[in-house]
Amino acid sequence: MGKITGFMEFERIEEGYKPVAERLKNYKEFVIGLDDAQANKQAARCMDCGTPFCNNGCPVNNIIPDFNDLVFRQDWKAAIEVLHSTNNFPEFTGRICPAPCEAACTLNVNEEAVGIKSIEHAIIDRAWSEGWVVAQPPKNKTGKKVAVVGSGPAGLAASQQLARAGHDVTLFEKNDRVGGLLRYGIPDFKMEKTHIDRRAEQLKAEGVTIRTGVLIGDMPKGSKVTNWAKETISAETLKSEFDAVVLTGGSEQSRDLPVPGRELDGIHFAMEFLPQQNKVNAGDKLKAQLRADGKHVIVIGGGDTGSDCVGTSNRHGAVSVTQFEVMPQPPVEENRPMTWPYWPLKLRTSSSHDEGCERVFAISTKEFIGEKGKVTGLKTVQVEWKDGKMVEVAGSEKILKADLVLLAMGFVNPVATVLEAFGVDKDARGNAKALTETAAAYTTNVPKVFAAGDMRRGQSLVVWAIREGRQAARAVDEFLMGTSALPR
Ligand SMILES: Cc1cc2nc3c(=O)[nH]c(=O)nc-3n(C[C@H](O)[C@H](O)[C@H](O)COP(=O)(O)OP(=O)(O)OC[C@H]3O[C@@H](n4cnc5c(N)ncnc54)[C@H](O)[C@@H]3O)c2cc1C
Ligand code: SF4
Repeated sequence: MGKITGFMEFERIEEGYKPVAERLKNYKEFVIGLDDAQANKQAARCMDCGTPFCNNGCPVNNIIPDFNDLVFRQDWKAAIEVLHSTNNFPEFTGRICPAPCEAACTLNVNEEAVGIKSIEHAIIDRAWSEGWVVAQPPKNKTGKKVAVVGSGPAGLAASQQLARAGHDVTLFEKNDRVGGLLRYGIPDFKMEKTHIDRRAEQLKAEGVTIRTGVLIGDMPKGSKVTNWAKETISAETLKSEFDAVVLTGGSEQSRDLPVPGRELDGIHFAMEFLPQQNKVNAGDKLKAQLRADGKHVIVIGGGDTGSDCVGTSNRHGAVSVTQFEVMPQPPVEENRPMTWPYWPLKLRTSSSHDEGCERVFAISTKEFIGEKGKVTGLKTVQVEWKDGKMVEVAGSEKILKADLVLLAMGFVNPVATVLEAFGVDKDARGNAKALTETAAAYTTNVPKVFAAGDMRRGQSLVVWAIREGRQAARAVDEFLMGTSALPR
């Protein structure tokens, strides 16, 4: 423990943001990380709890009290070693994780939690700038070949762990660049893509062969899922050429809103809108970009994806941006005695909301209205929730103007045809069926085929994808070698 009285002496310090007017002019990251003195104070607040709830609240079980102590002592090199021992990519989570560890922090019972995420961010950025993040190629090779299908955080983590264990890993990705939703989904202003590029270089230096633009299996005709594949390889070929296959293809099927008028022009899935801006930021030329300039935008869905549509629409220069959420507005402050150390229900206002957005809660869309085939508005109704059922409030119907509607209501499951091509059983929600708590963790019904990340657990978080990628890698290593030295 750094400073015994630190938690009584120092207030929590939040990371800074560049001003709204400045950050709206571009797609660059705008969070101003902690400097050394701030990180030292933040870390001094950690009480080094006998039972560190933070460590349990973190899906990758980051050893938080230890790296807090090391940052307090300004031993940044040892801090990154501790952080990397549980998390392959802290620069991703240090930027975009909602930080369930902070919700679980003991100080959060009656005080402000330790700013664990800001410390993680500071450690990894320091490590990269000091040149401490280097390739760790294996000392010995096993001669076993593993295919990883899908290069989101789950696939990247699985590939890195398996390559470090000495296996010959080929990472297949249908899109033209690696990263999954980190690359084509999450906007650059939340996480710039150079962070993925340098990790891809590290993976290559550790022996991973990366093959982009290759679809494994099958994709339904007319699918709106991102797919820039120039080549297709069948599931059967993959199974016959590799000793093990890990499916980390994400949960890419967006939830639709099949109400009257859905066929009108100007109504799009968030995942048609966001990836295009990511591509433009990467320097690609698009024939016609879906843009929000000069438009009244309505985003349907109150989560992260919706918030990212808000931030992107404002950067485009939308006239107005409104975000709908079907659930009632949650309380501003959580009921801490009731919820700690679990993830609390409370109103979450993102940096994108702060940039300009009207938020409407307890609202449902009954119909899209249009003229000459183009959307011009929405017929809405306020709703109440009674005994778990949604009930319309009589007389609350309204017509709202909209030139662009973005559907951001989450993802229902993975693209079914990909799982079907491998013959992998699905669970009740349509995800790849594979348990994590059994001796045969992450295995599917198909011999030597494993599944992890959103493809297995359904739509989730980057930190959960990293955890599953790491754990699936250990399961594959055990399957191939009979034993594994990879961490659990
Ligand atoms: C807009 C948006 C914002 C988000 N914001 C956050 C956030 O702020 N914080 C957070 O923690 N989480 C966030 N998430 C969730 C997070 O991005 C996902 O939970 C995470 O990326 C899942 O990782 P994954 O590796 O399982 O799958 P994905 O990231 O979805 O990657 C799957 C990859 O597999 C590829 N693939 C699929 N099928 C095939 C095939 N047959 N052949 C070859 N390649 C294939 C896909 O092209 C894709 O690149 C957000 C999600 C979205 C959509
Ligand atoms: S729960 Fe909070 S105070 Fe306790 S060890 Fe973890 S970060 Fe430190």
